[in-house]
Amino acid sequence: VFANVEEGAKIEVFALTASYNNDPFKDKVNLSVGAYRTADGKPWVLPVVKTTEMKVAADPTLNHEYIPVTGIEAFTKASTVLLLGEDSKAIKENRAVGVQALSGTGALKIGAEFLARKLGRSVVYFSDPTWENHFKVFRGSGFTTIKEYRYWDPVTRAINFDGWMEDLNNAPEDSVIVLHACAHNPTGCDPSEDQWKQIADVMEKKKLFPFFDSAYQGFASGDPIRDAFAVRYFESRGFEFLCAQSYAKNFGLYSERIGNLVVVQKESSTSAAVASQLTLIVRATYSTPPAYGARIVSTVLNTPELREDWMNCIRTMSGRIHQMRQALFKELTDLKTPGTWNHIVDQIGMFSYTGLNEQQVKLLIEEYHIYLLSSGRINMCGLNENNVAYVAQAIHKAVTT
Ligand code: PMP
Repeated sequence: VFANVEEGAKIEVFALTASYNNDPFKDKVNLSVGAYRTADGKPWVLPVVKTTEMKVAADPTLNHEYIPVTGIEAFTKASTVLLLGEDSKAIKENRAVGVQALSGTGALKIGAEFLARKLGRSVVYFSDPTWENHFKVFRGSGFTTIKEYRYWDPVTRAINFDGWMEDLNNAPEDSVIVLHACAHNPTGCDPSEDQWKQIADVMEKKKLFPFFDSAYQGFASGDPIRDAFAVRYFESRGFEFLCAQSYAKNFGLYSERIGNLVVVQKESSTSAAVASQLTLIVRATYSTPPAYGARIVSTVLNTPELREDWMNCIRTMSGRIHQMRQALFKELTDLKTPGTWNHIVDQIGMFSYTGLNEQQVKLLIEEYHIYLLSSGRINMCGLNENNVAYVAQAIHKAVTT
């Protein structure tokens, strides 16, 4: 039966981590995986998450019954407010539906299924480059035409805004446009507020449908309101859109698979039907979501003191990343490494798109045991005081040989 099953392509980020784990070299560095690391290179359980876990575990009213198909309401409501804001008109007017999902990927998945199977959408545009899993999720959900809009200019190491606008202008009506809400993965380059306005203008004029991917709210700048600018701006302009939220990074809840899909509509009259269709998609896919992550996130977001503790945690994470950007930039400029490196400090979020080419990346992995994606993307969290000089020297060697 299985004789003709061919082996699937490796998933680069997991393959790199496996190579890193098997590498006996003492000073090896993992800059590939998209997870936060402390200054000691360790995973971080946010103190507020630890406190909340104890609180949840001690709550005698909780049990392990199934939760509703669309998730725990206290979670989906708080999550939708975190995204759209306390004053959101869409929330007040009952035009925003939130459905609990299996982290950001799960939210993208049920959103893509809904668009393809219920609304007949078949064309999707991603930024070039984008998070590689977007392709798999949308193709697997029924999208048949997968396109890219220009995003990154390797020469200026910044956004190719004119190219992007031209591609949106030429996209067929009703295309779904996936937009990274903040901290673009992998480039770390976000549009300015003014550019978001121009993006909205084109999308409105050309009748393109926005699907935001919000995997880093608060984690990017340390301020969840600032990181939600684009989404809230589109809401204020009266757009209908989808947004996938993830609590993997900003709560450090990677393995708990907690996320939310928000559907913003023009009319409240469509909310019940939309929610019912999403219910059917979830039911047919995994029946009901897990409770653990939703309990933690909703307890934190709905308890003012815990929420303040969480804000401190996200400031700690984004602050450390900011410091590492400065440190790597300083090392490279001190070494007079050829090229400009300002993009390292200008970029935002967990990643930096270094501009290193495949050959240089290969050298870093093989000679220096520094693991990074072949696109040159590095996770800034993999850097710390002890390894940043080593990494800079290796980049210097890779660039100059
Ligand atoms: N979108 C983007 C752009 C991401 O970077 C990630 C995490 N790597 C996700 C979505 C979803 O991640 P998760 O399913 O772990 O929430």
